[in-house]
Amino acid sequence: NKQQQTLEFQAEVKQLLDIVINSLYTDREIFLRELVSNAADALEKLRYRTITDKEVTDPNLPLEITIEVNEQDKTLTISDTGTGMTRDELVDNLGTIARSGSKAFLQQLAEAEQKDLNLIGQFGVGFYSAFMVAKRVRVLTRSFVPGEEGCEWVSDGVGSYTIDQATGLTRGTKIILELKDDAGEFASPDTIKRIIKRYSNFVPFPIILAGEKINTVQAIWVRNKNEITDEEYTEFYKFIANAYDEPYYRLHFSADAPLAINALLFVPQENLERYGFGKTEPGVALYCRKVMLQQKAEGLLPEWLRFVKGVVDSEDIPINISRETMQDSALVGRLRKVLTGRFLKFLGEQAKTDPDKYGEFWKKFGIFLKEGAASDFIYSQDIAPLLRFESSKSEPGKYVSLDEYLERMPENQKHIYYINGPTREVIEAGPYLEAFKLRDMEVLYTHEPVDDFVLTNLAQYKEKKLVSADQPELDLPDTQADLADSGDAGKLEGLELKNLLAFMKQALGDKVSEVRESKRLVDSPAVLINMDEGMTSSMQRVMQALQK
Ligand code: ADP
Ligand code: MG
Repeated sequence: NKQQQTLEFQAEVKQLLDIVINSLYTDREIFLRELVSNAADALEKLRYRTITDKEVTDPNLPLEITIEVNEQDKTLTISDTGTGMTRDELVDNLGTIARSGSKAFLQQLAEAEQKDLNLIGQFGVGFYSAFMVAKRVRVLTRSFVPGEEGCEWVSDGVGSYTIDQATGLTRGTKIILELKDDAGEFASPDTIKRIIKRYSNFVPFPIILAGEKINTVQAIWVRNKNEITDEEYTEFYKFIANAYDEPYYRLHFSADAPLAINALLFVPQENLERYGFGKTEPGVALYCRKVMLQQKAEGLLPEWLRFVKGVVDSEDIPINISRETMQDSALVGRLRKVLTGRFLKFLGEQAKTDPDKYGEFWKKFGIFLKEGAASDFIYSQDIAPLLRFESSKSEPGKYVSLDEYLERMPENQKHIYYINGPTREVIEAGPYLEAFKLRDMEVLYTHEPVDDFVLTNLAQYKEKKLVSADQPELDLPDTQADLADSGDAGKLEGLELKNLLAFMKQALGDKVSEVRESKRLVDSPAVLINMDEGMTSSMQRVMQALQK
């Protein structure tokens, strides 16, 4: 298909562009970060191609990004020698939105009074930010695939775009922005230099402006910890996580055995899954001797650590490993083991040195650790000491760990007890706590259904069974009253008791499987007991909801 085509943007793209073009932004300069990051992605992909011995067009072109400005014409051009795009790829990549999270982003953006486009890159729509500053965007591109022709994509961002054939192009992509009248500043070399320093300093390819390299190309993770400043770490974090704030936690470590590893891992400030942005993609990139093998490396960390951002560099990974073999290679399995172990140990240390800070982390990211504890049999016992719960002995809103629970536990208590309820008030008003209050025993409060899956899956902690207080057998120690066997006045015995139980069973029919005399109640007349040993009541409710 060699002719010129005019094509409509997908509806979601139109919607997004409408917002991008017609709103006012204070931080428009982030468009440059997005375009440079796309150029860097395309260069990484190309570099990977050449390493894996695939033939490419123009094999001798240096891998770099070039920026040109023209202050008279008010144009800004960003070129790269990366993968380029074919005609079909242009349509797919610059005419539609593929990623699932982008819809949520779009909706939030449409509703927000103060539009913040800073997150645009995280939702797979960074390219369109060009229209914040450009009245027209031209993309000249030629794919690295031998035999592919060059193409030109042009749009003013309103409704449609055109694609045409373009001759005389070398491999890669050139994006020409015809700047809006009020965006002339972005044709000034000083402005561009400042923005690149700010957002794109760590792009691992030279960024060249007027014949000069303006970024610091360096792999911070292989440098000595003592020589790196907090600012450098933060700047690097912003670059790799596409973030605009500081990391919450940072772990930089190297190991020689069992594998040679340099790793720099970060925990962000926010868990975006909490805001309905869909499932977070893996955030750690895999390198071998400073060459990126995979940007969002699957399998490098277990799924439940997908909120972790960073880089891992290991000399032991063969550089020409293919993505397919990488996912299930034994080597990656060993890497995962080292990284996961080290990261969990790090969290344990953080919880000790600054429990309040860890508590804040737990509020936002605890759900991921719970996911691991409930589903990952390899790590559930390692995650257990990191779990936090409210309890009958914690202040409202404060947490206890299983270890704290064990420390406080009286000697005659056999198990660790917990009970599920939506809030502290609901649990404390219910009948399940009575027997424990009477004995001054601590009960963990689980507020979310997943908690019960976690504790049931763990089954025990440091040789103590985890028992839900709605189970029939609680193994509670005798109270003073039990020992004295003083006998309650008016207590039903023998036939009287039997008749009452039979009457109640008959009245309730199939709603209950059995009516029993209870020894656990203090003030309440009756309590529902869960006869299913495998599942707590809250788990049963979840399963029922799933079956509907
Ligand atoms: P994301 O980068 O998160 O995928 P973008 O909106 O920034 O989202 O870019 C969309 C897609 O367009 C990219 O995934 C890529 O396939 C393609 N693309 C953008 N810029 C370039 C470029 N300079 N070279 C090659 N492909 C590009
Ligand atoms: Mg992008």
